[in-house]
Amino acid sequence: MTLQERFEKAFMPNYGVPPIALARGEGTRVWDADGKEYLDFIGGIAVTSLGHAHPALVEAVSKQVATIAHTSNLFVNEPEVLLAEKLLELLGEPAKIFFANSGTEANEAAYKLSVKYGKATGRSYFVATENGFHGRSIGALSLTGKPSIREQFGPFPVEVKFVPYGDADALKNAVTGDCIAVFLEPTQGEAGVVPPPDGYFKAAREICTSAGALLVADEIQSAIGRTGHWFAHQADGVVPDILTLAKGLGGGLPIGACIGFGEAGTLFAKGDHGSTFGGNPVSCAAALAVLGNVDLAHVRTVASQLREGLEAVDHPLLKGVRGRGLWLALVLNEPVSAQVQAAAAEAGFLVNALQPDAVRIAPPLVVTAEEIAAFVAAVPGVLSHA
Ligand code: PLP
Repeated sequence: MTLQERFEKAFMPNYGVPPIALARGEGTRVWDADGKEYLDFIGGIAVTSLGHAHPALVEAVSKQVATIAHTSNLFVNEPEVLLAEKLLELLGEPAKIFFANSGTEANEAAYKLSVKYGKATGRSYFVATENGFHGRSIGALSLTGKPSIREQFGPFPVEVKFVPYGDADALKNAVTGDCIAVFLEPTQGEAGVVPPPDGYFKAAREICTSAGALLVADEIQSAIGRTGHWFAHQADGVVPDILTLAKGLGGGLPIGACIGFGEAGTLFAKGDHGSTFGGNPVSCAAALAVLGNVDLAHVRTVASQLREGLEAVDHPLLKGVRGRGLWLALVLNEPVSAQVQAAAAEAGFLVNALQPDAVRIAPPLVVTAEEIAAFVAAVPGVLSHA
């Protein structure tokens, strides 16, 4: 039996059966179970910031797991404190941190913080965006604007009003003095790597401030250098009230973070929230290795090369390129992204059919100029074979 056949027998059918079984990786390269080599231009969904088996990550994790792998929240450990301090330094604003284990859990913490704020101020509803994605638990799913994955699990514990993403007027109309919080991705990820019009995030900040609602920036996919900035909101020159992180922070180890700025960092009282694995020293050691080795100047240089290279591709199937930094979508003229993903894999490149007409590209942040050149050169042939 192949791994896929065994997978199908053993697992619930929620993912379908992935066509490729990955066995190992090094930098931007991965090898499947049959030994076929690929250039990884999806990075475990924008997670493997340092690429596969980066020596700094291997060393940090190996050392930590051989020292103490788990403490629980009954005890403090040094890696969690160092990581919190490092994140605060990079954020450059007074804030407080809660560590979780995934993006969903980071948003669940943000949601609970917001509920506390809503109860304290007598506010009643949330605002989030159509096609936005915040996770699959009931709190995070209630804020997720994709009816196909949301509706069958309702009713939800809170009222959420959904507004079209990128429309500042619609946001302004929806955010009244009764609104608890606005959950917003600085660029929508799962919707198809969709950046908003310039100034949208800044407008959202102003709208929330004037209505007294919290602005929650879901940077689970956009942070840790992915857009060429440590955090995407820094490019907009605004500070949210709550920030959520996961994915690229651990470089492949599971970790999430919910960060409350100013008073939002003081909303939880002792006993209000917790996690057995949150602040796990191995995940925190991995995240410290990531933060110590992401090179923003390199990200910006190779991101421009990737964007310019892809924009210069002239192919009838390619409508355009959108996104930020090393986080782009090839927008197609036809709904054939699955065929593009398969043709890319055949040619030795891993990409992701994100929407029927959008292919996501999110290589490790250490991707080299040569690897980008190889990918760009392969794109016309891949599109022709789709
Ligand atoms: N928020 C955003 C913006 C995401 O892109 C994702 C995952 O794709 C999540 C939340 C959920 O994160 P996780 O899958 O780690 O629970």
